[in-house]
Amino acid sequence: MVDGQGRHAEVAGGGFAGLAAAAALAQRGWSVTMHEKGAELRALGAGIVMWNNSLKVLDALGMLSVLIPRSMTPPFYETRVQNEIVSQEDFDGLHWRTMTRKDLHQVMVDGAMRLGVEIRVDSEVVAADPSGWIELANGERREADLVVGADGVASKVRESIGFGQKRSRYDDGITRLIVPRNKEKLGPGNWDNVIDFWRFEPRVLRVLYVPCNENDLYIALMAPIADKEGSTVPISLDLWAEHFPHLRPILEPAAKLHGRYDGYQTNVLDTWSAGSVALVGDAGHAMCPALGQGAGCALVNAYTLAQNVSDPAFLTIADALQAWEIEERPYTDRCQSRSAFFADTRSMSKGNQFTDEVLETAKYDPTAKTALGAL
Ligand SMILES: Cc1cc2nc3c(=O)[nH]c(=O)nc-3n(C[C@H](O)[C@H](O)[C@H](O)COP(=O)(O)OP(=O)(O)OC[C@H]3O[C@@H](n4cnc5c(N)ncnc54)[C@H](O)[C@@H]3O)c2cc1C
Repeated sequence: MVDGQGRHAEVAGGGFAGLAAAAALAQRGWSVTMHEKGAELRALGAGIVMWNNSLKVLDALGMLSVLIPRSMTPPFYETRVQNEIVSQEDFDGLHWRTMTRKDLHQVMVDGAMRLGVEIRVDSEVVAADPSGWIELANGERREADLVVGADGVASKVRESIGFGQKRSRYDDGITRLIVPRNKEKLGPGNWDNVIDFWRFEPRVLRVLYVPCNENDLYIALMAPIADKEGSTVPISLDLWAEHFPHLRPILEPAAKLHGRYDGYQTNVLDTWSAGSVALVGDAGHAMCPALGQGAGCALVNAYTLAQNVSDPAFLTIADALQAWEIEERPYTDRCQSRSAFFADTRSMSKGNQFTDEVLETAKYDPTAKTALGAL
């Protein structure tokens, strides 16, 4: 392990990207302070799929073993159209796991604290500078060898520096909820599978059914933004149960929850770093959720960022960050554009879409860090 050589990092944002960056830097001997603007640390959203690439990172950070008993690997990713099975994919044994965001976030908070990260809540970063400082909402200015902007899609670190970016929005969006599994009430079928239920007739609606563990089921209900009834929260039980009658036992509890409907969006930046400031996660590369890789790429990029800035071969942090972007960005860019394609075309519904090419990001092992680009 390379020593942080007494260097200090300030990390903006206590989501998955910020936690991964903070933990990976602390593991390499950096002193790290992570700022979360919220009054408490908590995960937004409901459930999440983690693939081999991010599971490798969690393992390298000492977090995976704690997560295993709180998560599961479903036997198949099943795709149905009008409730007819069109494919069942098992990814040839590639490691993937499903879990609640709450569990993943808690495991990462505990892991980051174990590694010595100082966490401050109620601490909003309002600006940053490429020379290596951040400013907090309370007026405090803090210097650092490295600043990590992991403050989400509306990043103030990014906006205050003025990174160029292209933002795209799409036609569809999703309401995400956690409900009890109620497996015994669901009738015949393998309810341990992830099941991607699509309907195109008489209207476009989709239910992504994701078991997370014995008790918790994550459901993501997709409807076009233009569909006022489909995108309303709390969800309309009449609408969803009319089109997915066999899912009524899980839709009934879902209709009692508030949840949130989020439209799909992508942001592609001109560059991921400026001087001593780097952006990771949705601050730098928000993507459509089709491939379940937004947080996965965030973890990978946070981890490899920590590797590069700790590598004595680089004379300056800025050099290390530029090399990091050259090495890592192509994976994220390709994943982002594939995810955008699936969002635009809704062609995940065809089934068997997890080809070798599409699984490139999932197969990547950033912890091996040998010949970059080789899987
Ligand atoms: C419907 C949907 C499904 C998805 N499914 C998956 C999936 O299955 N697998 C996957 O890998 N990815 C998935 N993603 C993507 C994933 O959710 C995101 O990429 C990931 O959560 C981004 O993490 P982040 O830490 O970058 O940002 P965020 O989760 O937005 O976290 C940012 C944090 O920073 C804090 N913050 C914000 N501004 C400031 C500030 N100025 N100062 C201090 N703190 C601040 C926020 O309060 C928050 O805690 C999905 C996304 C969507 C929309």
